[in-house]
Amino acid sequence: MSIDPKTYEYANDVLKGRIILITGATDGIGKALALHAATLGAQVILHGRNTGKLEAIYDEIESIDGAPRPSIAVLDLATADGDAYSALGKSIEDEFGRLDGLVHNAGILGQRLSLEQYDPGEWQKVLHVNLTAPFVITQQLIPALRNSEDPSIIFTSSGVGRVGKPFWGAYSVSKFGTESMSQILANENRHTSLRSNCINPGPVRTNMRLEAYPAEDRDALKKPGEILAAYVYLLGPDSKGVTGESFDIQ
Ligand code: NDP
Repeated sequence: MSIDPKTYEYANDVLKGRIILITGATDGIGKALALHAATLGAQVILHGRNTGKLEAIYDEIESIDGAPRPSIAVLDLATADGDAYSALGKSIEDEFGRLDGLVHNAGILGQRLSLEQYDPGEWQKVLHVNLTAPFVITQQLIPALRNSEDPSIIFTSSGVGRVGKPFWGAYSVSKFGTESMSQILANENRHTSLRSNCINPGPVRTNMRLEAYPAEDRDALKKPGEILAAYVYLLGPDSKGVTGESFDIQ
């Protein structure tokens, strides 16, 4: 029987022993996932650009009974240079020897303007943070992922990663690119245990969603903690062999 990631049910130690890096773990979906993965037994590497926010989540995880102690990786995806990315890869290999899960979650919305009006500098920044940075992080972390028995990469897509809606500009283009990057990686690794999939979270009550839809009724939206089953499924053992897919989880 195939599993529906949306309604996936799991044991409360399903991620026990897994080492998982989550980018953008300081807010929204990434923060909720970091806390939840830690309660399920994962050793979480919290990535973010803001040390104060990272330390606050670190402390929250430390206060969860039985949760493994997390780690912190500070890297501003808009400004970090090549050396900073290779230092990230090296520090994970040195400290843990392997990586079992990599969740590319950090992202920015950019401008909501027509292509005619879109600022080229902003375009470059959005593509850099949402698309190029995940590429470089993946490249640097593949050696550590290959040391895992069951490595899983999740890229975060969007509904506008499949349909080019007006006024979604660089964000939409970055998410189309994300879908393609995940497929390429999956197809290049069909003969290995490394799997790569996309999740489109759908509308979730976060700062990014508020920025995109300021007039919307926030109470009608799901909270980040309510959409995590598919992430847990893809990070855990029950999705072994699943690769090259893109999941809409609402
Ligand atoms: P939030 O704005 O709540 O969180 C974004 C996260 O990315 C934060 O942790 C933020 O850090 C981090 N981030 C942003 N820029 C950088 C940077 N330069 N360097 C390092 N970290 C950075 O967004 P969501 O939780 O809503 O979004 C998470 C993912 O889900 C994104 O990829 C988004 O595109 C996708 N998504 C979200 C939807 C939704 O409805 N919410 C719908 C479809 C897709 P900081 O805390 O410092 O700001």
